[in-house]
Amino acid sequence: MGILEVKGVNKRFGGLKALNDVNLDIQEGSVHAIIGPNGAGKSTLLNCFVGRLEPDTGSVMFDGQSLLGIQPYRINQIGVSRVFQTPEIFADLKLLENVMIPAFARRDGSFKVNGWKSVGEEREIRDEAMTMLAELGMEAKADHVAGQLSRGDKRRLELAMCLVQKPKLLLLDEPTAGMARADTNNTIDLLKQIAKRGITMVVIEHDMHVVFSLADRISVLAQGTVIVEDVPGNIKGNPKVQEAYLGGAHL
Ligand code: ADP
Ligand code: MG
Repeated sequence: MGILEVKGVNKRFGGLKALNDVNLDIQEGSVHAIIGPNGAGKSTLLNCFVGRLEPDTGSVMFDGQSLLGIQPYRINQIGVSRVFQTPEIFADLKLLENVMIPAFARRDGSFKVNGWKSVGEEREIRDEAMTMLAELGMEAKADHVAGQLSRGDKRRLELAMCLVQKPKLLLLDEPTAGMARADTNNTIDLLKQIAKRGITMVVIEHDMHVVFSLADRISVLAQGTVIVEDVPGNIKGNPKVQEAYLGGAHL
């Protein structure tokens, strides 16, 4: 049994069937990519894992617990972190402050600035945040304002904000979207480092270079249905996958 088990998930938006009986079994410590043409239902599926959407039917189990019907902050507290398509950082705050907020949230359950109870607690959180920035090579920029970072560094900061919460599962929706090649390559290297820590990752991605450099397994979603699940080496040549991508993104 995997760390994330998705069974029979269906989701309709009015007349549109966005997810059609989706099943996934994601192994602990693996990197699992979900690919598929635009509008295939990838983001909808991820939203069902983090309490942003409720499936019409089906189950989503993480580490033996259902993720359905519980608050997003609770999902975060039990070890699931999510990275959005556009980095969600506090642009007006310093890098260090950006990382202190989720470090504090892990203890307290809420996102707030300066909510710590004592100088001692603030120092602990500050140290924790600084250690995380150092691990991701951003120590020297700790006092910079986050809004001034490059796209790649914003993503790096956002990952620091996730990792400081010590997730077991990291969900990434197109982590390299809108990035230049150099930033994309840096982000791939960073995600590989994170995978080495043993953190399970589910990556939605349309950039095949990213998918094939990272994934242990790939599920291909087309019109809400998982049409193939396999190791990367068997994906490109699969006729069903080629058909799903005809006229769309290229493999
Ligand atoms: P992907 O991430 O694979 O590009 P999405 O999950 O965003 O695809 O969308 C799947 C389908 O569901 C698309 O046809 C999209 O227009 C539709 N959709 C997504 N979210 C909503 C919503 N909140 N209301 C209505 N339709 C939606
Ligand atoms: Mg999407």
